[in-house]
Formats: sequence, C-alpha cells, structure tokens
Amino acid sequence: MSVKPPMGPVCARCPVVLGASCCEVKEGEHLATLTRADVERIAAHTGLAPRRFVAEEYLTDEEAAGYEARRPLYRGYFRRGPVRLTLATRAGACVFHERGRGCGLPADVRPVACRLYPFERWPDGSWSVQVGRYGNLAEARADGGACLAVEEAESLEDVLAAFGTSRESVEGLGAQLAEEARAHGRG
Ligand code: SF4
Ligand code: SF4
Repeated sequence: MSVKPPMGPVCARCPVVLGASCCEVKEGEHLATLTRADVERIAAHTGLAPRRFVAEEYLTDEEAAGYEARRPLYRGYFRRGPVRLTLATRAGACVFHERGRGCGLPADVRPVACRLYPFERWPDGSWSVQVGRYGNLAEARADGGACLAVEEAESLEDVLAAFGTSRESVEGLGAQLAEEARAHGRG
C-alpha cells in the first residue's frame, strides 16, 4: 500500500509525527500503481531506463479483477494480463524518495496515483480517502499505514485544504488516471 506526493506542509511533518511517509514501505508492501504513461514521463524527465525504477507485481486473474472492481479509476488496466507495475524500492522506500525531503521528482512528473493519494473514487462514484483514520496519533504511529492529513482532518474538505487542492483538481487527476489506465490496458 502507500504512496505519496509531499504536496504540502503536512507531508513534511508526516514522517516526524507518524514515523514514516507513504513513500516508505515495510517488507511485502508495494507502492503506487504505474501506468505506461507514468513510466514514459519519468523516463523522459530522469533519463533513466524503466528497469531502474519500475517493479512488477504478478497477481492472479482473480486478484486483478478484484483490484479493478474496487478501484474504478483502474478499469481496463489489466486487460493484457494480471501484472501491476509499481515503483521499485531501495532501503525501504521508493527509489525516488529522498529522506527528509520527500519525493525527488517534480510534481508534474510524479505518477498520477502518487499525486492523487490519499483521495480515491469508489465503485459507487463517490470520492473520499483510501486510508482509515485512527483518531489517535500514537495508535496511528504504532500500527503504520496512516496519513497525517487524514488523522488531522475532520472532513474531506479539511483533507483537501491540507494539500492545498480542490475537489475539481482531484477529480481532474482522477479522469487523467482513468484514461491512462485504459490506455495502459490497450497496450
Ligand atoms: S514517486 Fe515520489 S511520491 Fe511516488 S512513491 Fe516515489 S517518492 Fe513517493
Ligand atoms: S500526510 Fe499523507 S500524503 Fe502526506 S506523506 Fe503523510 S501519508 Fe503521505
């Protein structure tokens, strides 16, 4: 799970308060899902070959179908096979993560899924956040996988404000992700 785009001051405080940001992973966890469009943007910006920053996660057909069913923005992603592209890791974090500084990629080069996190569109078409809220920072820190913006918010509007974004911007990113996921599946 996890990912993130240090988009605002809350992301700078997150690793201090919660012990890790969403760009870091524990053993067995995976980062954001990449589309081919993400890979092309990152390769063009960094000059890196995709094998330097892309990892593959092999799912069963059932797992891939379940992934698309739970996350409508990814409908069509697995059309050519149940392989999820994600970010490679190094020392427990995304290869682009710079400790204490966040993501080393410019905001418009980051994977769309990273720019969208923690916002999620659900199968019923509604938007909310994809991570649960502990309501207790000590518990959130002990369990891991929490998002400080979500912990500190009382409403979805508060989470949007924490990232300095709006529903319109989030929905626009969602539309971009849906289109790029469909194109990914078309091959
Ligand atoms: S690409 Fe950037 S925002 Fe996405 S997981 Fe890696 S470091 Fe975090
Ligand atoms: S506040 Fe949320 S989005 Fe920001 S680094 Fe922490 S977990 Fe990621």
